[in-house]
Amino acid sequence: MRIGWACLLSILSLSMVFADDKKSDPSQIGDRDVGKGLNCYSIDKEIAMGKQMAAEVQRQAKMLDDPIIGEYVNRVGQNLVRNSDAKVPFTFQVIDDDTLNAFALPGGFIFVHTGLIHTAETEAEMASAMAHEIAHVAARHMTRQACRAQIANIATIPLIFLGGLPGYAIRQGAGAAIPMTFLSFSRGFEAEADYLGLQYLYAAGYDPNAAIDMFEKMMSLEKRKPGSIAKVFSTHPLNEDRLRKTQAEIEKILPQKAEYIVNTSDYMEVRGRLLAMENRRKMRSTEKDSNRPVLRHTPGSGPAPGEPGEDASDDRPTIKRRDLIE
Ligand SMILES: [Zn+2]
Repeated sequence: MRIGWACLLSILSLSMVFADDKKSDPSQIGDRDVGKGLNCYSIDKEIAMGKQMAAEVQRQAKMLDDPIIGEYVNRVGQNLVRNSDAKVPFTFQVIDDDTLNAFALPGGFIFVHTGLIHTAETEAEMASAMAHEIAHVAARHMTRQACRAQIANIATIPLIFLGGLPGYAIRQGAGAAIPMTFLSFSRGFEAEADYLGLQYLYAAGYDPNAAIDMFEKMMSLEKRKPGSIAKVFSTHPLNEDRLRKTQAEIEKILPQKAEYIVNTSDYMEVRGRLLAMENRRKMRSTEKDSNRPVLRHTPGSGPAPGEPGEDASDDRPTIKRRDLIE
């Protein structure tokens, strides 16, 4: 018996429909090969490259030296990974950088900026950004994109892999140290990372609407303080369209649950810890600022506003004001 071309094509397109259906069914997570597609790198090679790049990020970026925050972010991340299609082991690390960013390297190396924790008011919001990055890894977007790029520019792409990363200035943030080839994904890959990430967020028990809250926060932050979102992160097109699409997907493919995780006391503690750390740092830098108003003790003057009114000596404080030049 012979199968005609038309028949073969219809079988092929039918199987693609099934594959697409699976991708829209969160109950099938883990049982769907979302990373398939043309890839010129083996998974082992992908992990090895990611490891090399992660070591470079650690060398160039200011890693957050706080085991409590680090352990917590890793715990949230691993829980999302368990509810994802990813097939590789993951590590999650925190970079001490107040720009809003999170990024993934090939093979499961995720970096979260402290700026993400600063901006996200709930664990679910933070998790939504992390789930998006996990989805990029699960779907092997970096290597698939690199393979595409290699076809277009075969001379340069392998150098990035083999010769290490170019040494960009650290002030541009760690994201800049990673070749843009990896991180400015095609629109199609971005949409897919949104789609899969949303499902992982939901499967891990979080309220999927947190993804929308996070988009809204990012959009308003970018409006209020342009540049506070890392360039790499904002290449994920941030617009109403992306927001509406996510809203529609929540309604279409995620069956409503009785309960969702929105926030946890662990997140509130960790975020409080980070904000307190940032405040202490701000205060220290204000103290160092030589243009600040100086307290000077002058005999005979009354206590300065806000100062305890001690009168035991003639050495009473007064405020000598200077114009602040910023
Ligand atoms: Zn993305």
